[in-house]
Amino acid sequence: MSVGFGVHGDQRHTAVGVTAAFWVSAPYAGGMTDRPAEQQPDWPDRAALQDVVERLRLLPPLVFAGECDQLKERLGAVARGEAFLLQGGDCAETFVDSTADSIRNKIKTLLQMAVVLTYGARVPVVKVGRIAGQFAKPRSSDVETRGGVTLPSYRGDAVNGQEFTPQARTPDPERLVRVYNTSAATLNLVRAFTQGGLADLREVHAWNQGFVRGDGAHRRYDAMAQDIDRAMAFMLACGVDPAAFRTVDLYSSHEALLLDYERALTRIDSRTGLPYDVSGHLLWVGERTRALDGAHIEFAASVRNPVAVKLGPSATPEEALALIERLDPDSEPGRLTFVTRMGAGRVRVALPPLVDKVTASGAVVAWVCDPMHGNTYEAPDGLKTRRFDDVIDEVQGFFEVHRDLGTHPGGIHMELTGDDVTECIGGSGGLVETDLPMRYQTACDPRLNHQQSLELAFLVAEMLAAR
Ligand code: PEP
Ligand code: MN
Repeated sequence: MSVGFGVHGDQRHTAVGVTAAFWVSAPYAGGMTDRPAEQQPDWPDRAALQDVVERLRLLPPLVFAGECDQLKERLGAVARGEAFLLQGGDCAETFVDSTADSIRNKIKTLLQMAVVLTYGARVPVVKVGRIAGQFAKPRSSDVETRGGVTLPSYRGDAVNGQEFTPQARTPDPERLVRVYNTSAATLNLVRAFTQGGLADLREVHAWNQGFVRGDGAHRRYDAMAQDIDRAMAFMLACGVDPAAFRTVDLYSSHEALLLDYERALTRIDSRTGLPYDVSGHLLWVGERTRALDGAHIEFAASVRNPVAVKLGPSATPEEALALIERLDPDSEPGRLTFVTRMGAGRVRVALPPLVDKVTASGAVVAWVCDPMHGNTYEAPDGLKTRRFDDVIDEVQGFFEVHRDLGTHPGGIHMELTGDDVTECIGGSGGLVETDLPMRYQTACDPRLNHQQSLELAFLVAEMLAAR
Protein backbone atom coordinates (compact mmCIF):
# COMPACT_ATOMS: atom_id res chain seq x y z
CA MET A 1 0.00 0.00 0.00
CA SER A 2 1.38 3.36 -0.94
CA VAL A 3 0.35 6.42 0.95
CA GLY A 4 0.69 10.16 1.04
CA PHE A 5 0.87 11.94 -2.26
CA GLY A 6 4.08 10.47 -3.37
CA VAL A 7 5.58 7.41 -4.80
CA HIS A 8 7.37 4.67 -2.96
CA GLY A 9 9.83 3.13 -5.34
CA ASP A 10 8.18 0.45 -7.40
CA GLN A 11 4.84 0.90 -5.65
CA ARG A 12 4.18 4.09 -7.56
CA HIS A 13 1.28 2.65 -9.52
CA THR A 14 -0.68 1.93 -6.39
CA ALA A 15 -0.29 5.46 -5.01
CA VAL A 16 -3.80 6.51 -5.94
CA GLY A 17 -6.66 4.39 -6.98
CA VAL A 18 -5.80 0.73 -7.16
CA THR A 19 -6.26 0.06 -3.47
CA ALA A 20 -8.93 2.73 -3.10
CA ALA A 21 -11.71 0.20 -2.59
CA PHE A 22 -9.90 -0.72 0.57
CA TRP A 23 -10.47 2.80 1.81
CA VAL A 24 -14.06 3.47 0.78
CA SER A 25 -15.81 4.92 3.77
CA ALA A 26 -19.35 5.49 4.95
CA PRO A 27 -20.80 8.73 6.33
CA TYR A 28 -20.45 9.13 10.06
CA ALA A 29 -23.60 9.79 12.04
CA GLY A 30 -21.98 10.56 15.40
CA GLY A 31 -19.76 13.38 16.59
CA MET A 32 -22.55 15.80 17.48
CA THR A 33 -22.25 17.41 20.85
CA ASP A 34 -24.00 19.75 23.25
CA ARG A 35 -20.70 21.24 24.25
CA PRO A 36 -20.14 24.91 23.44
CA ALA A 37 -18.41 25.50 20.09
CA GLU A 38 -16.35 28.68 20.01
CA GLN A 39 -15.62 30.65 16.84
CA GLN A 40 -18.50 29.33 14.74
CA PRO A 41 -19.98 31.69 12.12
CA ASP A 42 -23.40 33.17 12.69
CA TRP A 43 -24.96 31.58 9.58
CA PRO A 44 -28.05 33.63 8.80
CA ASP A 45 -29.82 30.75 7.01
CA ARG A 46 -29.64 27.55 9.06
CA ALA A 47 -31.68 25.57 6.52
CA ALA A 48 -29.18 26.46 3.80
CA LEU A 49 -26.34 25.30 6.08
CA GLN A 50 -28.14 22.02 6.73
CA ASP A 51 -28.63 21.51 3.02
CA VAL A 52 -24.90 22.03 2.39
CA VAL A 53 -23.99 19.63 5.20
CA GLU A 54 -26.21 16.93 3.70
CA ARG A 55 -24.53 17.39 0.31
CA LEU A 56 -21.03 17.31 1.79
CA ARG A 57 -21.84 14.09 3.60
CA LEU A 58 -22.34 12.34 0.27
CA LEU A 59 -19.11 13.48 -1.38
CA PRO A 60 -16.04 11.23 -1.65
CA PRO A 61 -13.27 11.52 0.95
CA LEU A 62 -10.46 13.97 0.17
CA VAL A 63 -7.88 11.80 1.92
CA PHE A 64 -7.84 8.15 2.87
CA ALA A 65 -7.78 6.67 6.35
CA GLY A 66 -4.75 4.53 5.47
CA GLU A 67 -2.80 7.70 4.64
CA CYS A 68 -3.77 9.21 8.00
CA ASP A 69 -2.50 6.07 9.75
CA GLN A 70 0.80 6.28 7.87
CA LEU A 71 1.23 9.90 8.89
CA LYS A 72 0.42 8.96 12.48
CA GLU A 73 3.19 6.36 12.35
CA ARG A 74 5.65 8.95 11.04
CA LEU A 75 4.63 11.42 13.74
CA GLY A 76 5.32 8.65 16.23
CA ALA A 77 8.90 8.71 14.93
CA VAL A 78 8.89 12.50 15.37
CA ALA A 79 7.80 12.07 19.01
CA ARG A 80 10.66 9.61 19.59
CA GLY A 81 13.22 11.93 18.01
CA GLU A 82 13.65 9.67 14.98
CA ALA A 83 12.17 12.16 12.48
CA PHE A 84 11.60 15.91 12.19
CA LEU A 85 8.33 17.59 11.16
CA LEU A 86 8.12 20.43 8.67
CA GLN A 87 4.59 21.82 8.62
CA GLY A 88 3.94 24.96 6.62
CA GLY A 89 1.76 26.98 4.34
CA ASP A 90 -0.61 29.93 4.33
CA CYS A 91 -2.24 31.36 7.40
CA ALA A 92 -5.41 31.37 5.32
CA GLU A 93 -5.77 29.83 1.88
CA THR A 94 -8.09 31.70 -0.45
CA PHE A 95 -10.08 30.59 -3.49
CA VAL A 96 -8.51 33.16 -5.86
CA ASP A 97 -4.97 32.29 -4.80
CA SER A 98 -5.45 28.53 -5.18
CA THR A 99 -3.79 28.73 -8.58
CA ALA A 100 -1.39 26.26 -10.15
CA ASP A 101 1.51 28.71 -9.82
CA SER A 102 0.89 29.53 -6.20
CA ILE A 103 0.42 25.88 -5.20
CA ARG A 104 3.52 24.82 -7.12
CA ASN A 105 5.62 27.58 -5.52
CA LYS A 106 4.45 26.55 -2.07
CA ILE A 107 5.26 22.89 -2.69
CA LYS A 108 8.65 23.83 -4.15
CA THR A 109 9.44 25.90 -1.07
CA LEU A 110 8.45 23.12 1.32
CA LEU A 111 10.51 20.57 -0.62
CA GLN A 112 13.52 22.89 -0.76
CA MET A 113 13.32 23.47 2.99
CA ALA A 114 12.91 19.76 3.63
CA VAL A 115 16.14 18.85 1.81
CA VAL A 116 18.15 21.30 3.90
CA LEU A 117 16.46 20.21 7.13
CA THR A 118 17.03 16.53 6.31
CA TYR A 119 20.72 17.23 5.92
CA GLY A 120 20.87 19.12 9.23
CA ALA A 121 18.69 16.69 11.16
CA ARG A 122 20.14 13.47 9.68
CA VAL A 123 16.71 11.91 10.14
CA PRO A 124 13.69 11.80 7.80
CA VAL A 125 11.71 15.02 7.51
CA VAL A 126 7.94 14.50 7.63
CA LYS A 127 6.37 17.04 5.27
CA VAL A 128 2.90 18.45 6.01
CA GLY A 129 1.32 21.42 4.25
CA ARG A 130 -1.05 23.93 5.76
CA ILE A 131 -2.78 23.29 2.47
CA ALA A 132 -5.94 21.97 0.79
CA GLY A 133 -8.34 22.88 3.59
CA GLN A 134 -6.92 25.85 5.54
CA PHE A 135 -9.79 28.19 4.69
CA ALA A 136 -11.33 29.11 8.07
CA LYS A 137 -9.96 31.53 10.66
CA PRO A 138 -10.70 32.18 14.33
CA ARG A 139 -10.99 35.91 15.05
CA SER A 140 -10.47 37.92 18.21
CA SER A 141 -13.60 39.98 17.47
CA ASP A 142 -16.87 38.93 15.84
CA VAL A 143 -17.16 42.31 14.14
CA GLU A 144 -14.97 44.87 12.43
CA THR A 145 -15.66 48.62 12.35
CA ARG A 146 -14.38 50.92 9.61
CA GLY A 147 -15.38 54.58 9.33
CA GLY A 148 -18.35 54.11 11.66
CA VAL A 149 -19.62 51.03 9.78
CA THR A 150 -19.67 47.70 11.65
CA LEU A 151 -19.78 44.38 9.79
CA PRO A 152 -19.01 40.74 10.65
CA SER A 153 -15.27 39.98 10.73
CA TYR A 154 -13.72 38.08 7.83
CA ARG A 155 -13.55 34.44 9.01
CA GLY A 156 -11.79 32.96 6.01
CA ASP A 157 -13.04 32.10 2.52
CA ALA A 158 -14.89 29.13 4.04
CA VAL A 159 -17.31 31.59 5.63
CA ASN A 160 -17.38 35.00 3.98
CA GLY A 161 -15.47 37.41 1.71
CA GLN A 162 -12.69 39.82 2.65
CA GLU A 163 -14.28 42.81 0.96
CA PHE A 164 -15.76 45.24 3.47
CA THR A 165 -19.36 45.17 2.24
CA PRO A 166 -22.45 43.73 3.94
CA GLN A 167 -22.90 41.29 1.07
CA ALA A 168 -19.33 39.93 1.15
CA ARG A 169 -19.20 39.70 4.93
CA THR A 170 -22.47 37.78 5.33
CA PRO A 171 -21.62 34.11 6.07
CA ASP A 172 -22.62 31.93 3.11
CA PRO A 173 -22.68 28.13 3.64
CA GLU A 174 -22.29 27.48 -0.11
CA ARG A 175 -18.67 28.49 0.48
CA LEU A 176 -18.18 25.19 2.33
CA VAL A 177 -18.83 23.33 -0.90
CA ARG A 178 -16.26 25.55 -2.57
CA VAL A 179 -13.79 24.70 0.20
CA TYR A 180 -14.32 21.02 -0.56
CA ASN A 181 -13.92 21.55 -4.31
CA THR A 182 -10.87 23.80 -4.01
CA SER A 183 -9.27 21.39 -1.55
CA ALA A 184 -9.91 18.51 -3.95
CA ALA A 185 -8.37 20.44 -6.87
CA THR A 186 -5.38 21.46 -4.73
CA LEU A 187 -4.79 17.90 -3.55
CA ASN A 188 -5.03 16.70 -7.12
CA LEU A 189 -2.31 19.12 -8.15
CA VAL A 190 -0.16 18.24 -5.15
CA ARG A 191 -0.40 14.56 -6.03
CA ALA A 192 0.44 15.33 -9.66
CA PHE A 193 3.40 17.57 -8.83
CA THR A 194 4.91 15.19 -6.32
CA GLN A 195 4.71 12.29 -8.78
CA GLY A 196 5.50 14.15 -11.97
CA GLY A 197 9.18 14.93 -11.42
CA LEU A 198 8.83 18.23 -9.54
CA ALA A 199 9.81 16.47 -6.34
CA ASP A 200 13.01 14.95 -7.72
CA LEU A 201 15.66 15.43 -5.07
CA ARG A 202 18.32 16.42 -7.60
CA GLU A 203 16.03 19.07 -9.03
CA VAL A 204 15.16 20.42 -5.58
CA HIS A 205 18.83 20.52 -4.65
CA ALA A 206 19.62 22.41 -7.87
CA TRP A 207 17.07 25.07 -6.85
CA ASN A 208 18.75 25.38 -3.47
CA GLN A 209 22.12 25.84 -5.15
CA GLY A 210 20.53 28.63 -7.18
CA PHE A 211 19.36 30.24 -3.95
CA VAL A 212 22.82 30.05 -2.38
CA ARG A 213 24.60 31.40 -5.47
CA GLY A 214 22.01 33.96 -6.44
CA ASP A 215 22.55 36.51 -3.71
CA GLY A 216 25.71 37.52 -1.86
CA ALA A 217 23.84 37.47 1.45
CA HIS A 218 23.11 33.77 1.06
CA ARG A 219 26.76 32.75 0.61
CA ARG A 220 27.00 31.83 4.28
CA TYR A 221 24.90 28.79 3.38
CA ASP A 222 27.20 27.77 0.55
CA ALA A 223 29.22 25.35 2.68
CA MET A 224 26.12 23.39 3.64
CA ALA A 225 24.84 23.37 0.05
CA GLN A 226 28.21 21.99 -1.10
CA ASP A 227 28.10 19.33 1.63
CA ILE A 228 24.67 18.24 0.40
CA ASP A 229 26.02 18.19 -3.13
CA ARG A 230 28.88 15.90 -2.13
CA ALA A 231 26.54 13.64 -0.13
CA MET A 232 24.27 13.26 -3.14
CA ALA A 233 27.16 12.60 -5.51
CA PHE A 234 28.43 9.96 -3.08
CA MET A 235 25.04 8.25 -2.87
CA LEU A 236 24.72 8.19 -6.66
CA ALA A 237 28.27 6.86 -7.04
CA CYS A 238 27.40 4.07 -4.63
CA GLY A 239 24.48 3.13 -6.85
CA VAL A 240 21.74 4.28 -4.49
CA ASP A 241 18.54 3.81 -6.46
CA PRO A 242 17.66 7.17 -8.00
CA ALA A 243 13.99 6.09 -7.82
CA ALA A 244 14.21 6.74 -4.09
CA PHE A 245 15.22 10.33 -4.92
CA ARG A 246 11.82 10.86 -6.48
CA THR A 247 9.90 9.62 -3.43
CA VAL A 248 8.01 12.33 -1.61
CA ASP A 249 5.04 12.15 0.69
CA LEU A 250 3.45 15.49 1.37
CA TYR A 251 0.47 15.39 3.69
CA SER A 252 -2.30 17.95 4.15
CA SER A 253 -3.39 19.67 7.36
CA HIS A 254 -5.63 22.47 8.54
CA GLU A 255 -7.23 23.83 11.68
CA ALA A 256 -10.40 21.86 12.47
CA LEU A 257 -12.42 24.99 13.17
CA LEU A 258 -15.79 24.78 11.42
CA LEU A 259 -17.34 21.76 13.06
CA ASP A 260 -20.26 21.50 10.62
CA TYR A 261 -17.75 21.02 7.79
CA GLU A 262 -15.44 18.67 9.68
CA ARG A 263 -18.32 16.49 10.90
CA ALA A 264 -19.79 16.30 7.40
CA LEU A 265 -16.40 15.04 6.16
CA THR A 266 -16.04 12.48 8.94
CA ARG A 267 -16.57 8.93 7.72
CA ILE A 268 -16.41 5.40 9.02
CA ASP A 269 -13.31 3.71 7.62
CA SER A 270 -14.27 0.41 6.04
CA ARG A 271 -11.06 -1.32 7.19
CA THR A 272 -11.38 -0.55 10.86
CA GLY A 273 -14.97 0.59 11.42
CA LEU A 274 -13.56 3.73 13.05
CA PRO A 275 -14.29 7.41 12.28
CA TYR A 276 -11.73 9.49 10.38
CA ASP A 277 -12.04 13.13 9.34
CA VAL A 278 -11.27 12.75 5.64
CA SER A 279 -10.99 16.50 4.97
CA GLY A 280 -7.23 16.33 5.68
CA HIS A 281 -4.56 14.02 7.04
CA LEU A 282 -3.69 15.98 10.18
CA LEU A 283 -6.16 18.26 11.96
CA TRP A 284 -5.28 20.70 14.67
CA VAL A 285 -7.23 22.57 17.33
CA GLY A 286 -6.22 26.22 17.68
CA GLU A 287 -5.20 28.26 20.69
CA ARG A 288 -8.63 29.92 20.89
CA THR A 289 -10.71 26.72 20.71
CA ARG A 290 -8.73 24.26 22.82
CA ALA A 291 -10.99 24.46 25.92
CA LEU A 292 -11.03 21.00 27.50
CA ASP A 293 -14.80 20.89 27.75
CA GLY A 294 -15.32 22.55 24.36
CA ALA A 295 -16.75 21.05 21.19
CA HIS A 296 -13.45 21.20 19.27
CA ILE A 297 -11.56 18.96 21.66
CA GLU A 298 -14.58 16.66 21.77
CA PHE A 299 -14.49 16.46 17.98
CA ALA A 300 -10.75 15.80 17.87
CA ALA A 301 -11.18 13.06 20.47
CA SER A 302 -13.83 11.40 18.28
CA VAL A 303 -11.70 10.90 15.14
CA ARG A 304 -8.73 8.60 14.55
CA ASN A 305 -6.55 10.97 12.52
CA PRO A 306 -3.34 12.24 14.04
CA VAL A 307 -4.30 15.48 15.82
CA ALA A 308 -2.43 18.51 17.11
CA VAL A 309 -3.25 21.21 19.64
CA LYS A 310 -1.73 24.69 19.73
CA LEU A 311 -0.42 25.75 23.13
CA GLY A 312 0.20 29.43 23.86
CA PRO A 313 1.93 31.04 26.84
CA SER A 314 -1.16 30.77 29.06
CA ALA A 315 -1.32 26.97 28.76
CA THR A 316 -0.68 25.18 32.05
CA PRO A 317 0.96 21.77 32.58
CA GLU A 318 -2.36 20.57 34.03
CA GLU A 319 -4.14 21.54 30.81
CA ALA A 320 -1.51 19.77 28.74
CA LEU A 321 -1.90 16.61 30.83
CA ALA A 322 -5.69 16.77 30.60
CA LEU A 323 -5.45 17.16 26.81
CA ILE A 324 -3.26 14.05 26.65
CA GLU A 325 -5.76 12.13 28.76
CA ARG A 326 -8.61 13.26 26.51
CA LEU A 327 -6.96 12.96 23.08
CA ASP A 328 -4.47 10.16 23.56
CA PRO A 329 -5.85 7.92 26.31
CA ASP A 330 -4.22 4.83 24.75
CA SER A 331 -0.76 6.42 24.46
CA GLU A 332 -0.63 5.85 20.73
CA PRO A 333 2.65 7.02 19.18
CA GLY A 334 2.05 9.95 16.80
CA ARG A 335 -1.56 10.47 17.78
CA LEU A 336 -0.96 13.79 19.56
CA THR A 337 1.30 16.68 18.67
CA PHE A 338 1.64 19.83 20.77
CA VAL A 339 2.40 22.88 18.66
CA THR A 340 3.76 25.52 21.02
CA ARG A 341 3.57 29.21 20.08
CA MET A 342 4.96 31.13 22.98
CA GLY A 343 6.71 34.14 21.46
CA ALA A 344 10.48 34.67 21.31
CA GLY A 345 10.47 36.56 24.60
CA ARG A 346 8.59 33.87 26.50
CA VAL A 347 9.52 30.49 25.06
CA ARG A 348 12.48 29.95 27.40
CA VAL A 349 10.26 30.51 30.45
CA ALA A 350 6.83 29.27 29.37
CA LEU A 351 7.84 26.05 27.58
CA PRO A 352 9.98 24.21 30.18
CA PRO A 353 7.20 23.57 32.74
CA LEU A 354 4.97 22.07 30.02
CA VAL A 355 7.64 19.80 28.58
CA ASP A 356 8.91 18.87 32.02
CA LYS A 357 5.52 17.81 33.45
CA VAL A 358 4.40 16.01 30.32
CA THR A 359 7.68 14.09 30.20
CA ALA A 360 7.46 13.25 33.90
CA SER A 361 3.96 11.83 33.30
CA GLY A 362 5.46 9.26 30.93
CA ALA A 363 3.41 10.53 27.98
CA VAL A 364 5.09 10.64 24.58
CA VAL A 365 3.90 13.49 22.38
CA ALA A 366 5.53 15.26 19.46
CA TRP A 367 6.68 18.78 20.39
CA VAL A 368 6.59 21.21 17.50
CA CYS A 369 7.49 24.91 17.46
CA ASP A 370 5.22 27.48 15.81
CA PRO A 371 7.50 30.54 15.92
CA MET A 372 4.94 32.70 14.11
CA HIS A 373 1.86 33.29 16.25
CA GLY A 374 3.58 34.53 19.40
CA ASN A 375 5.58 37.10 17.44
CA THR A 376 2.97 39.15 15.58
CA TYR A 377 2.88 42.92 16.01
CA GLU A 378 1.40 45.88 14.23
CA ALA A 379 3.72 48.09 12.18
CA PRO A 380 3.16 51.87 12.33
CA ASP A 381 1.03 51.81 9.16
CA GLY A 382 -1.31 49.27 10.78
CA LEU A 383 -0.16 46.14 8.90
CA LYS A 384 0.40 43.01 10.98
CA THR A 385 3.97 41.75 10.67
CA ARG A 386 6.64 39.57 12.27
CA ARG A 387 10.40 40.01 12.57
CA PHE A 388 12.50 37.27 10.97
CA ASP A 389 14.92 37.51 13.91
CA ASP A 390 12.11 36.89 16.43
CA VAL A 391 11.00 33.84 14.47
CA ILE A 392 14.57 32.46 14.50
CA ASP A 393 14.97 33.33 18.17
CA GLU A 394 11.84 31.41 19.16
CA VAL A 395 13.05 28.32 17.28
CA GLN A 396 16.45 28.73 18.96
CA GLY A 397 14.76 28.97 22.38
CA PHE A 398 12.67 25.89 21.59
CA PHE A 399 15.87 23.94 20.82
CA GLU A 400 17.53 25.21 24.01
CA VAL A 401 14.60 24.14 26.19
CA HIS A 402 14.57 20.64 24.72
CA ARG A 403 18.34 20.32 24.98
CA ASP A 404 18.22 21.32 28.66
CA LEU A 405 15.43 18.85 29.42
CA GLY A 406 16.83 16.03 27.32
CA THR A 407 13.71 15.92 25.14
CA HIS A 408 13.21 16.08 21.36
CA PRO A 409 12.59 19.28 19.40
CA GLY A 410 10.22 17.55 16.98
CA GLY A 411 9.69 20.11 14.26
CA ILE A 412 8.55 23.51 13.09
CA HIS A 413 5.13 24.85 12.08
CA MET A 414 5.44 27.81 9.71
CA GLU A 415 3.27 30.36 7.95
CA LEU A 416 4.95 30.75 4.58
CA THR A 417 4.36 31.15 0.88
CA GLY A 418 6.43 30.33 -2.18
CA ASP A 419 5.85 33.81 -3.56
CA ASP A 420 7.86 36.99 -3.19
CA VAL A 421 5.57 38.78 -0.73
CA THR A 422 6.51 41.54 1.72
CA GLU A 423 4.71 40.57 4.90
CA CYS A 424 7.45 39.75 7.45
CA ILE A 425 10.45 42.00 7.98
CA GLY A 426 14.13 41.09 8.17
CA GLY A 427 16.11 38.23 6.74
CA SER A 428 19.02 38.78 4.41
CA GLY A 429 16.70 40.50 1.92
CA GLY A 430 16.60 43.32 4.47
CA LEU A 431 12.86 44.07 4.30
CA VAL A 432 11.85 46.90 6.62
CA GLU A 433 8.47 48.11 7.87
CA THR A 434 8.11 50.69 5.12
CA ASP A 435 8.47 47.90 2.50
CA LEU A 436 5.42 46.04 3.78
CA PRO A 437 2.77 47.65 1.51
CA MET A 438 4.68 46.67 -1.66
CA ARG A 439 3.39 43.09 -1.87
CA TYR A 440 1.34 42.53 1.27
CA GLN A 441 -1.04 39.84 0.03
CA THR A 442 -2.02 37.65 2.97
CA ALA A 443 -5.69 37.16 3.79
CA CYS A 444 -4.83 36.96 7.48
CA ASP A 445 -1.42 36.65 9.19
CA PRO A 446 1.94 37.68 7.66
CA ARG A 447 3.89 34.84 6.01
CA LEU A 448 7.58 34.31 5.36
CA ASN A 449 8.29 34.72 1.65
CA HIS A 450 10.22 32.20 -0.45
CA GLN A 451 13.68 33.59 0.40
CA GLN A 452 12.95 34.04 4.08
CA SER A 453 11.62 30.47 4.24
CA LEU A 454 14.79 29.01 2.70
CA GLU A 455 16.99 31.13 4.90
CA LEU A 456 15.08 29.89 7.94
CA ALA A 457 15.57 26.30 6.77
CA PHE A 458 19.36 26.78 6.58
CA LEU A 459 19.44 28.37 10.04
CA VAL A 460 17.29 25.64 11.58
CA ALA A 461 19.44 23.02 9.83
CA GLU A 462 22.46 24.56 11.58
CA MET A 463 20.64 24.26 14.91
CA LEU A 464 19.76 20.63 14.15
CA ALA A 465 23.31 19.81 13.12
CA ALA A 466 24.65 21.39 16.34
CA ARG A 467 22.49 19.19 18.59
C1 PEP B 1 -3.11 29.87 12.98
O1 PEP B 1 -2.42 28.84 13.01
O2 PEP B 1 -3.29 30.54 11.95
C2 PEP B 1 -3.70 30.33 14.25
C3 PEP B 1 -4.80 31.06 14.29
O3 PEP B 1 -2.94 29.95 15.29
P1 PEP B 1 -3.24 29.95 16.86
O4 PEP B 1 -4.45 29.08 17.07
O5 PEP B 1 -2.00 29.36 17.44
O6 PEP B 1 -3.45 31.37 17.28
MN1 MN C 1 -2.15 32.47 11.40
